[in-house]
Amino acid sequence: MPNHYDLIAIGAGSGGLSVAERAAKHGAKCAVIEKGPLGGTCVNVGCVPKKVMWFGASIAHTLQDAAGYGFRFDTPSFDWATLKQARDGYVQGINGWYHTYLADSDIDEIPGQARFVDAHTLEVEGQRYTADHIVIAVGGTPALPDIPGAELGITSDGFFDLEALPRRVAVVGAGYIAVELAGVLNALGSDVTMLLRKEHLLRNFDAMLRESLMEEMLNDGIGILAGSQVAAVTKQDDGSLCIETTNGQRLEGFDQIVWAIGRNPLTADLDLAAAGVAMTEDGFVPSDDFENTNVPGIYAVGDVTGKPALTPVAIAAGRRLGDRLFGGMKERRLVYEHISTVVFSHPPIGTVGLTEDEARATHGDAVKIYQTRFTPMYYAPVEHKRQTAMKLVTVGAQEKVVGCHIIGDGADEMLQGFAVAIRMGATKQDLDDTVAIHPTSAEELVTMR
Ligand code: FAD
Ligand code: NDP
Repeated sequence: MPNHYDLIAIGAGSGGLSVAERAAKHGAKCAVIEKGPLGGTCVNVGCVPKKVMWFGASIAHTLQDAAGYGFRFDTPSFDWATLKQARDGYVQGINGWYHTYLADSDIDEIPGQARFVDAHTLEVEGQRYTADHIVIAVGGTPALPDIPGAELGITSDGFFDLEALPRRVAVVGAGYIAVELAGVLNALGSDVTMLLRKEHLLRNFDAMLRESLMEEMLNDGIGILAGSQVAAVTKQDDGSLCIETTNGQRLEGFDQIVWAIGRNPLTADLDLAAAGVAMTEDGFVPSDDFENTNVPGIYAVGDVTGKPALTPVAIAAGRRLGDRLFGGMKERRLVYEHISTVVFSHPPIGTVGLTEDEARATHGDAVKIYQTRFTPMYYAPVEHKRQTAMKLVTVGAQEKVVGCHIIGDGADEMLQGFAVAIRMGATKQDLDDTVAIHPTSAEELVTMR
């Protein structure tokens, strides 16, 4: 293994693997340094195992709906261990695939924890490596609150380690992870209470989405305590956990508490100061529009930058950086606009562009909203009905579509194509001129009045 490279990525997650892969395709000699399993958060403790659990939860909902379609069977049983084993096996398969892929791509894999020695030198397990270009792609780790008893709870990492379905769970937080894990646990049979320190789930999402989701989660039997900030957690004599809130509530009898209150960048042990790389107070490494840090030759991509913390964002930023540095594409960069995102709640949310509030703040009276709310045909014979809601945010006389927000079954798969149209500047008329596909929920997006 040579000790000097054209490019080294610190972290073999979505961002680090992508920049190394693209740079190597352009002929650069590359290495990735990884202290954990290949694939990073997304593959090991994020998107991938989460989506497997989401599929499991969706099956649980379908089984409940099946009676309406005439299916009769004894109460179905569910075995958490079987699902966990299948999920872990799938993830391990992806890890193995990455080893082969790196070898085939002629990218060196350096296992261990990296720290900077200077702007072009890294140390891993006592060995030094130098590179012309170093990419910081170290991602983040789940945050724990600074309160007594925080260690009694688990985070999303601990959720993926659970060997059995917890009976009674408190999920603390109001973002993506809180909503997704609460939905999975509830569908698979846990008694779930969510604790929100403020009033809303997904506070920065369009109001229609967050209000509809709150309603659906309550209808599913999830307890939601808004305005409840956890002050302390204690273990009771019977082993159960008790939550005390800052407004004096005492909630007893939990066998798990899941903290889902955001993630912190993994920069504390990198010795960024040795290379002169600037950090924010929270430990993020700011990068400019071209992913440059303040030090020439050192770049940052993915969650560590504080930009949208999504796998495709880290991948896109990494690939474009590889193109720019080694593919002769001097202006190639990720433009952080029109980034579509899905929350794998039940039902899922798909959203891209400006919320109604954001559009009105920027464009005032030029904003025109189209929205609809309906019960999808699937629920006609089903007792527990879910609603679908959609909103198009348009601006100006041309009614350019600047936002598209969907909550409902299929929203996760529906959004991608609309995101392309919006990125290309679609107007409401363009959607109206598109012949609908019937009978679907998606057709409502091209037939809204
Ligand atoms: P990471 O994937 O975190 O990779 C960083 C890597 O660097 C890690 O492997 C780490 O071990 C390594 N590392 C850190 N420090 C060092 C060091 N000093 N030396 C060597 N190695 C180091 N995004 C989506 O788009 N869709 C989803 O459905 C989705 N679901 C998620 C569900 C959960 C529960 C979580 C936690 C996240 C989810 N995300 C999802 C977010 C997504 O996982 C991240 O945005 C993405 O993984 C970020 O990629 P990254 O390369 O920046 O960091
Ligand atoms: P988020 O930033 O989405 O949400 C964290 C939430 O925690 C906020 O909603 C905040 O809500 C609340 N919060 C913060 N501090 C506290 C506290 N001390 N006590 C109680 N609540 C608190 O972070 P997540 O951890 O959910 O996820 C991290 C990131 O990972 C996401 O932002 C997303 O980018 C990515 N991700 C993407 C997924 C996807 O694409 N489907 C799935 C999972 C994660 P408020 O301020 O309203 O109280």
